[in-house]
Amino acid sequence: MDPIYLDHNATTPLDPEVLEAMRPCWLAGGNAESRHFAGRAARRALIEATERIALALGADPTEVVVTSGGTEADNLALFGLAGKRPGQVVASPIEHPAVAEPLARLERRGFSVVRPEVGADGVMDAVAMADAIGPETRFVTLMLANNETGAIQPVQRLATLAAERGVPVHTDAVQAVGRVPVHFHDLGVATLAASAHKFHGPMGVGLLLVRDGLRLDPHTLGGGQQGGRRPGTVPVPLVVGLAAALGRWQDQAQERMTRWRTLRDRLETAIRAGLDPEAVVRNGPDLDALRLPQTLNIGFPGLDGDALLMQLDLAGVAASLGSACASGTTQASPTLLAMRVPADRLRASVRFSLGAATTEARIDEAARRIVAAVRRITPEHSVLRG
Ligand code: PLP
Repeated sequence: MDPIYLDHNATTPLDPEVLEAMRPCWLAGGNAESRHFAGRAARRALIEATERIALALGADPTEVVVTSGGTEADNLALFGLAGKRPGQVVASPIEHPAVAEPLARLERRGFSVVRPEVGADGVMDAVAMADAIGPETRFVTLMLANNETGAIQPVQRLATLAAERGVPVHTDAVQAVGRVPVHFHDLGVATLAASAHKFHGPMGVGLLLVRDGLRLDPHTLGGGQQGGRRPGTVPVPLVVGLAAALGRWQDQAQERMTRWRTLRDRLETAIRAGLDPEAVVRNGPDLDALRLPQTLNIGFPGLDGDALLMQLDLAGVAASLGSACASGTTQASPTLLAMRVPADRLRASVRFSLGAATTEARIDEAARRIVAAVRRITPEHSVLRG
């Protein structure tokens, strides 16, 4: 049975053209800091890649800090913006653990974290977040797109409101870059995190964009690479790969977004058509402008999500649950909990996420397998439509 990968929000396969773009750089070697021909060549490749990344994301090359991925970028931003003396932070309750866990550590260090409510559609209210800013607020953090529901957040509006109060905003754009256009300066945020493996680039590299003039406390110490903001030898071939993947996205952005929207909606329609309409509930916003084009989160009320995921795996469909499996027990997703999703959908919501190579034929076949899997674990559906 042909496998169908619909878990691109977890990670994406490397684009073969990106692999080719990296190959000469891997083979040439060279430390960008070295003062010889090999170092100069690596440095040239790094500068060129950094310029391309900055251009693609609406930033200046000096604002690009290379990291090992999204998690490190978020940590660098949060601990860097927090400073040493305890204060207050305003955050959304739907952040990825790469943000939520650093916030929990800040709370243990005496910071207070205010988390305004999210709407039932998974979208934050920028005004409510800005209103939570007080005299002790060090920064505000709001992801650009949610990893589970694909809900796009009002980051630009929040950054404008926060700027009026002189408070910087961090945005975790890990799920947004390579899915929707992202422009750092237009967003008006202080820092922005991204990760190459979410947009068909290599694993092990990401970046933090840091507004020129903003000083972040580094959380690792070492050689003075990257102006001391993130010391350590810069993995030049990975940065070249990140730039190539962004370039591929830019070249194909319109085509990908249009195709994704069509296929995402085709998948939902086909799943609904095959099951009782009551048995299929979409988690997330309705408005297209507020949705990632390639993410679909569906709740199957009353179903055992673990069992469904297992059936899907057996049927060759890779998807993901909106809940985390820790110590053998499935815990409800904090995002869905924060959205006040009813109990019968909390552990029964599945995320399907599309990638650059997803085709109509794959989506149609996936829908057939998903419907069959749902019916298999809920016998009553077998007598329903389809
Ligand atoms: N932030 C979000 C919203 C994510 O979805 C992820 C990964 O799933 C991360 C951060 C972490 O990124 P990385 O896997 O590159 O560390």
